[in-house]
Order: sequence, then structure tokens, then C-alpha cells
Amino acid sequence: MDMQMNLSAEAISVEQRWCAHNYKPLPVVIDRAEGVWMWDVEGTRYLDMMSAYSAVNLGHGHPRILRAMIEQASRVAVISRAFHSEKLGPFLRRLCALSGLDGACPMNTGAEAVETAIKAARRWGYKVKGIPADQAEILVAEGNFHGRTSTIVGFSSEAAYRDGFGPFAPGFRIIPYGDADAMEAAIGPNTAAILVEPIQGEAGIVVPPEGYLRRLREICDRRNVLLILDEIQSGLGRTGKWFAFQHEGIVPDGLCLGKALGGGVMPVSAFVARQDLIDMFVPGNHGSTFGGNPLAAAVGLEALETLDEEGLVARSAELGDHMMRRLSAIDSPAIRAVRGRGLWVGVEIDPAFATARAVCEALMQRGVLSKETHDTVIRFAPPLVISREELDWAIDRFAETLAAMRA
Ligand SMILES: *Cc1c(COP(=O)(O)O)cnc(C)c1O
Repeated sequence: MDMQMNLSAEAISVEQRWCAHNYKPLPVVIDRAEGVWMWDVEGTRYLDMMSAYSAVNLGHGHPRILRAMIEQASRVAVISRAFHSEKLGPFLRRLCALSGLDGACPMNTGAEAVETAIKAARRWGYKVKGIPADQAEILVAEGNFHGRTSTIVGFSSEAAYRDGFGPFAPGFRIIPYGDADAMEAAIGPNTAAILVEPIQGEAGIVVPPEGYLRRLREICDRRNVLLILDEIQSGLGRTGKWFAFQHEGIVPDGLCLGKALGGGVMPVSAFVARQDLIDMFVPGNHGSTFGGNPLAAAVGLEALETLDEEGLVARSAELGDHMMRRLSAIDSPAIRAVRGRGLWVGVEIDPAFATARAVCEALMQRGVLSKETHDTVIRFAPPLVISREELDWAIDRFAETLAAMRA
């Protein structure tokens, strides 16, 4: 084994020894990254088709984000919400202007934004809708992914997310995804909210039938139920619009954002909502030590302005169509389905051909990094700054990989 090989093997073995085994990474040790490219410790270059689950929509080390980050960190980074800062207002004002909503509560991780949504919805249920104490119910979708807190995994339909972590919080019901009639039938007098992803990411890039969100909007209006969308992964340009709900011309009552909001450098999340919902929070009833800190606000604002000024949302729509066309045109018995929207496509691999994991490992050997979701789906979600040539290069490598695996 030469020195170079030792670097990778050593890093993997130390990480394996000391880190909880709650992930199963591909055997590649990333040393640095820039834009859509990443290099391992041996100096091999890879194209990033994962974007850290959409956290890196702006690409790695975007110069504008780095500049804003260093400038703000050198001035003041963390003060808690015990004091005011200059960037938080403009950051949240921008978020509201983009989404058509009225106010926002800043948090850090996606799961915290979802927890914030759950608290707001329940309190709205009691204070505004008049649901009896502790009876509020939230309807969620089968196959959902909203994060990893013990409350959130309690309403997951994925056994692995739940096994051994109970008892779970009551007050949630799981309804089939994409079926608006089933959702309406499940509404009772104590239903405060419906919480869904516009496209289910972790479930395997599952796109609901056209009109699903529009129907949920109509049902929620008619039945006095809140519509809360988790756009932590689908938001901020990923699907070719700022938010996936804009494909259906609706506005939700509450919106969870995260991932790309942190510009690819830190965790920044928010729960954005209409006025009467965001007003459920009063001094003392909710909070976060790091939520809305000056560094997070400066980076978040810069991330929004950069997405806007570089036209990355339109780019996602245009290159996304191109990626979808090209992936759908690959003639391989390995592919069972191709689905997605914008620069966010899942390719379903026939298990009789190979596991999605095996395809990802073979793809890695050809210089493209992606990751399987469940056993059968490969996710293609490059940073939105990718060029058409880079995208074509990655798709060529994928087609080559499938052809070589068949041989
Ligand atoms: C990633 C994700 C979350 C959780 O975000 P974390 O930052 O990992 O807590 C919630 N909802 C959706 C749709 C996600 O993709």
C-alpha cells in the first residue's frame, strides 16, 4: 500500500472507530471542494451530484458566501436572541417577500424548523380554532421525512427511523401520500394542520399527482385546517421555482426551510408563516440559543441574494428539464423509473440488476458522487451552479456505469 492509499484507509478507520455508525458513507474521504467539484485525500476529482441533500445548492465555497461569512464572523457571530442584531430583520424580511408569508422564526437545523411548525400549529389549534386542550391532531403523509427528533420519527412510516426510540408523542396520523381525498376524509374537529413535503425527498424523490397541493389548499381553507409545507429539501430553487408550492400557484400557511438556507457552510433554518400563526410565539414560549445569530442571518441573507442575482432558480428549471430528458433517454434494463423536478431527479434501479448502492459505488469509480436513498433509488441533485457541460459529463458517466455493470 502506498502513502496515498494510507491516507484514505487511515481516515476511514479512525472515523469508523470514533464516530457513531448512524450513516454508511461511500468509501471516499473528501479533502476539499470548490463549486461542483470535490477532491479526495489522494487528489482524485469527483463531480458532486448530491449537494449534501441540497444544503449545497450554491456549490461549495461560493465566494460571496465565504466573504459574507468571514466579514460577519470577524464583526460578531453569536449573541443569542437576548440582544438585537442588524442582519436578522433583513434576512427574514427577504424570506417572507420570496414566499409570500408574513413572519418567520429562525432556527438552526431542519428538524428544529419542523418542531417549530408543530408547536405553532398546535397552539393555533387551541388559541384560534378552539380545539380542546391537548387534543390537537396533525395529519402527515406516509413515506414522510421531516427530521430525526423523537417527536418527528414518531410519525415516520419508516421502521428503521423508529425502532427502539419509543415511546412516541401522540397527536399525529399517517395518511397515504398524494391522495387528497384520503387526507380530507381524515380531518376531524381536532385537526389543526396537514404537514407534507411537496415532493418527498428521502422517500425516493416521489412526485405527487398534479394538483395535489392545490387540492390540499382548497380542503384546508374549507375545513379551517392549516397547510404546512416542509420545503427543507425542495425549497430555494431545487425544483426550478423558489418553492415547490409555486408550481401549483398556492401559498401555504406555514413553511419549513433549512438546508440551502445556510449557503452550504452552516446550519440555518426557519419556520415562515402567515401572521396569526407566527404570532403564536410570545416571549418565553419558544427559542433557540443559536437560532437567528448574526452569522447565520448574514449567511442566510447572502444565500438568498446570491440565488436571486445569479439566476440559479431559472437555471435549475432549465438544466433540470435537460437532465430529466437525458436520464429518461438512457436505454438500460437497469432503469425502472426516472422522476423528479428541476435539478432533483431520482432514478429507480431494478433490484434484479443491482442495488442502488452498488451503482453508486461503481459511479464513484468514474468520478461522480451520488448516494442511494433506500435500496433502489439513486439521487441526482447537483449544486444549482452546475454548467450544462458538467451535467452532461456526469450523465455520460452514469450511462457508461450502467453499461459496464451489465457487461
Ligand atoms: C433534511 C430534511 C429535514 C431535516 O433537516 P435536518 O437539518 O437534518 O434536521 C426535514 N425535512 C426534510 C424534507 C428534509 O429533507
